Amino acid sequence: MRIKSCMEINVSNLASNYQLLKEICPNNEALFMVKANAYGHGMVPIVKFAYFELGIKEFGCASIGEALRLREEIPNGEFEVYVFSDVNLDLQEAADIYLNNRIIPVLSNESNLKYFLEQEDFRYFPLCLKFNTGMNRLGLRLDRVDEVVKLIKASGRKSIYHLMSHFSSSSLSMIKNKRNLAQKENWRDLKSQLTAAGIEIDKSSLANSGAIEQKVGLEETHVRPGLMMYGPTSLLPQYSHLSCWEGKLISRLETTFINSFKVDRGTPIGYGATPCPTDGVV
Ligand SMILES: *Cc1c(COP(=O)(O)O)cnc(C)c1O
Repeated sequence: MRIKSCMEINVSNLASNYQLLKEICPNNEALFMVKANAYGHGMVPIVKFAYFELGIKEFGCASIGEALRLREEIPNGEFEVYVFSDVNLDLQEAADIYLNNRIIPVLSNESNLKYFLEQEDFRYFPLCLKFNTGMNRLGLRLDRVDEVVKLIKASGRKSIYHLMSHFSSSSLSMIKNKRNLAQKENWRDLKSQLTAAGIEIDKSSLANSGAIEQKVGLEETHVRPGLMMYGPTSLLPQYSHLSCWEGKLISRLETTFINSFKVDRGTPIGYGATPCPTDGVV
């Protein structure tokens, strides 16, 4: 803790951001992304408010540690928690945590998928899959859909509980940008391929903040807002006219200067004695 520094979180702004979100997409459920400590805002109090006061029932964490913390610190919360990033399903220790705490791993590679489908313990657990439609970070491969279908069917399942994908460029135009158009098309193809193979899709989500602001991806059951819930727009300034978002910032940082002084151009500053590029104030 730093004396005289304070970050203030205004939860009534979070409430009004959520209200605004509901106006943009009244027919979608929100899976609120609270990964990375709720984008630095303090995950536990944010989730408590979002669940108890706003009625949000689904939350997305990056790691199993974050998800477990929500279960431990909010034991009476009957919400769903998803882990998106380091799922670690190959570790028995991690598998036990999912099972014992009703935490849903988002499966984004075939080895995790195989493990999940083969384990008797996970037999009645929700199957949540994330495909790579162009983000090229995590996600099951589009050229392996047939294999994924085979694995699902061999396990005796007929449906996917929640199907997901993620946009790489929703801070740009969703209707003109080529990558976004390609991702949307890949997503459409993926869904029809799965459906044609007889796999039911119970829930689906595609849109993160930038897409939601442009009202794209709202035909799915869910949206997955992150940044917008904390206030800012995701669109780059030159695309701001495409956004309908008028969120309020939920945080305000107050701090003090510990030192300030005038310098001339060229004055060496700090490590490496880096020369100051202009006259000014440090
Ligand atoms: C972080 C994240 C989101 C939310 O992204 P924003 O751009 O902050 O809205 C949605 N889905 C996934 C899979 C994510 O990792």
